[in-house]
Amino acid sequence: MQVSLTSTQRSSDDPNFAIEVVKQCLTDALNCGASDVHFQPRLKRWEVSFRIDGVLQLVDSFDRSDQSDPVSRLMALAGLPSYRGGVPQEGPLRWQANGGIEREMRLGIFPTVHGNRAAIRIMDDRDTIRRLDQLGFDESTQQQLRSLCDSRDGWLLVAGPAGSGKTTTLYACLTYIAAGDFSRSVLAIEDPIESVIDSISQSQLQPTSGMTLASAMRAAVRQDAEVLLVSEIRDVDTAEAVLAASMTGHLCFSSIHAGSIGATLRRLAQMKLPTFAIQSGLRGILCQRLLRQICSQCAGRPRAESAPECGLCHGTGYRGRIPIAQMLDLAGSSIGQSVFDALESGRSTKEIDQITFQAGIDSLHDQAARLVEQGKTDSAEVFRVLGRTE
Ligand SMILES: [Zn+2]
Repeated sequence: MQVSLTSTQRSSDDPNFAIEVVKQCLTDALNCGASDVHFQPRLKRWEVSFRIDGVLQLVDSFDRSDQSDPVSRLMALAGLPSYRGGVPQEGPLRWQANGGIEREMRLGIFPTVHGNRAAIRIMDDRDTIRRLDQLGFDESTQQQLRSLCDSRDGWLLVAGPAGSGKTTTLYACLTYIAAGDFSRSVLAIEDPIESVIDSISQSQLQPTSGMTLASAMRAAVRQDAEVLLVSEIRDVDTAEAVLAASMTGHLCFSSIHAGSIGATLRRLAQMKLPTFAIQSGLRGILCQRLLRQICSQCAGRPRAESAPECGLCHGTGYRGRIPIAQMLDLAGSSIGQSVFDALESGRSTKEIDQITFQAGIDSLHDQAARLVEQGKTDSAEVFRVLGRTE
């Protein structure tokens, strides 16, 4: 199923075409709740795609012309220099949405054989940053997250692939802490910042100008930060720095690209972090995915040729997403020791995951199957997110 756009009246030979098409695309993207917009140049055409509820979909295609280039228009809006050809560029883009509300976006330009392509990330509206109880987790997961946020030290890792909602969960944790009864100083070191939250201090890494992760971490500790978010664990240095902070009186939060609880622990071990150190610092692992929810209005049924498109899901058949999650709370649980013993003795990811299933943590596949039974999502969506059932 495809999202259909309001088509532009002008022809692509009109010099104002680019202005018009950029305006139309960004307005439509905001109306559809898209998180990203891609402008991809092909040999003779432009292709425009939106990412909606995590899925990239082609929404429009139009002829290219020498008179009018939508990517140049976007670069002008973001103040990126057009004379710097042939190199990737990035910059913030502010866009006045319907009703005059300004929305923050991030524009990335990437040179291809057919010219520059553009990817625009639409940041969450700061008024829509969700609270822990609005993420869709079950009561026990929420309770475990709250108790972790109330700790004074330790490290929570949120695991999952790109687009699994990790940042939304981390922001909800920080917002919960910032709104607590007694104030704690919360500092986030991010690359990139995905939403701007008023109640915490957020910093963007800029390695070229000296704001590296190592220098940011050292300075953050001197800034008297009690709670730290280090947005993603990509390498050994970051992992070591955050683990060290979590063992010296800081409560730390990070995301990591790993598919399961076992895979997360294996990755930390591959980074040569000693098991005893992981065991001293790591307080919990939350492994999550997001499944698209079947549209409540059209129930995802294909429409008749003459029928109007469903206004709620814009014809995609899905509206909104629901999480499935496994929470391993390492503090005060008996699973902790068995999991670390398995890690220390070199057991595989699968074997470690098996231990968590036996301890009563439902597998993501089982949780997804229940949602299909309840009619909240369908098996095609489960296959897209989790792959084949093992
Ligand atoms: Zn619908």
